[in-house]
Amino acid sequence: MKCECGEVMEKKRVEVAGILSEGYKCPKCGEVEFTEKQMRKMLAQKEKLLKIAVTRKIGQVGGSLVLRIPRSVEEALNLEKGEDVKIIVENKKMIVQPEA
Ligand SMILES: [Zn+2]
Repeated sequence: MKCECGEVMEKKRVEVAGILSEGYKCPKCGEVEFTEKQMRKMLAQKEKLLKIAVTRKIGQVGGSLVLRIPRSVEEALNLEKGEDVKIIVENKKMIVQPEA
């Protein structure tokens, strides 16, 4: 996909209205575009994002505690293996936030 400025756009994860989604971003001017398919996925995500509350048991792998992420959360946040997330502990809660 090409940008209006002439630069070739890169496939990137971009945040739009609080939704982290796949799109195309111009490395030169920062312009962001979406294909129709990406747009549809974004809308589906938006519906799921409103609120999810699930209960999970903490497991253990080696010496570390692990938490499995349910499919519903994976899909709502468009999470992928290997990506970085930020863990924030605040008021006895743990927030796991995908990084853009
Ligand atoms: Zn551009």
